[in-house]
Amino acid sequence: MIARSSNDGRLRLAVPNKGRLCQPASDLLEEAGVSFEADERRLFASCRNYPIDLLFVRAEDIGEYTQDGVVDLGITGSNLLEERGVAVDRWLPLEFGHCALQLAVPAGGGTERVSDLRGRVIATSHPRTTAAYLRREQVDAQIIEVRGAVEVAPLLGVADAIVDLVSTGTTLATNGLRPLETILESQAELIATPALPPARRELAQTVRLMLASVLAARQRKYLMMNAPATAVEQIRQVLPGLGSPSVMQLADPAMVAIHAVVDSQRIWDLLGPLRDAGASSILVVPIEKMIP
Ligand code: AMP
Repeated sequence: MIARSSNDGRLRLAVPNKGRLCQPASDLLEEAGVSFEADERRLFASCRNYPIDLLFVRAEDIGEYTQDGVVDLGITGSNLLEERGVAVDRWLPLEFGHCALQLAVPAGGGTERVSDLRGRVIATSHPRTTAAYLRREQVDAQIIEVRGAVEVAPLLGVADAIVDLVSTGTTLATNGLRPLETILESQAELIATPALPPARRELAQTVRLMLASVLAARQRKYLMMNAPATAVEQIRQVLPGLGSPSVMQLADPAMVAIHAVVDSQRIWDLLGPLRDAGASSILVVPIEKMIP
């Protein structure tokens, strides 16, 4: 049992101790500069450079711990917050752990829409979210709670449909299922306890800013190139950068260096038009942090 947060000013942050969210959450914290080494049982870590204690607990429990003030901040999946119905402040989507809670049915069966499931059986590890969805759809069906391997329930003959987390859809297809509806889109989130003690509020906000600046940087690249001074206007038209690009005179007075921050996903679309406009020696450089 973890004691309620003390008033010693150290911020408590709960992180998933295993499963899909564990490694990306630790990586994000390290990248943000929250430097820690977990104890050998990986239950607890004291931060080296900030008054922050990390608690490694089950992703499923992090919502409750945060709601109850056992920890000040937590990282967990939106699906788990919805399923547990916890009252926490949802601070920041973290851009990992993406998945969808989907209603799926046997591929060859005649079920075309959710209303076809009236009076039928649905297996899920998310009974509460499923019940809320069925209520919204005004479909009266029986829900059975299954803890793991939800997708085999129709094969075993214990359910007519399932509601399960899907990321690529491969597991569904392997088990002869096809998605019918998406009930919820989910990703990892930074959450905060609603009654955050004033002594730790500022540090909690700093943690939010540190994580947000890593996420912003991950989505962007720093682009550097040389170009004839006469090409600056055309290159500016191509660059959808943040604000205007930096333009610097080179030793050759006819040439300039142009630097801009661009969306990582657009890099390959930009290279052709930049070259056509006269850009050369193009470099794409990662950005470590972007402070809003
Ligand atoms: P795990 O501990 O690995 O069972 O997964 C914990 C959390 O990872 C889930 O509650 C979701 O928030 C997230 N997640 C992301 N992708 C998936 C997926 N394909 N299947 C299950 N969980 C996923």
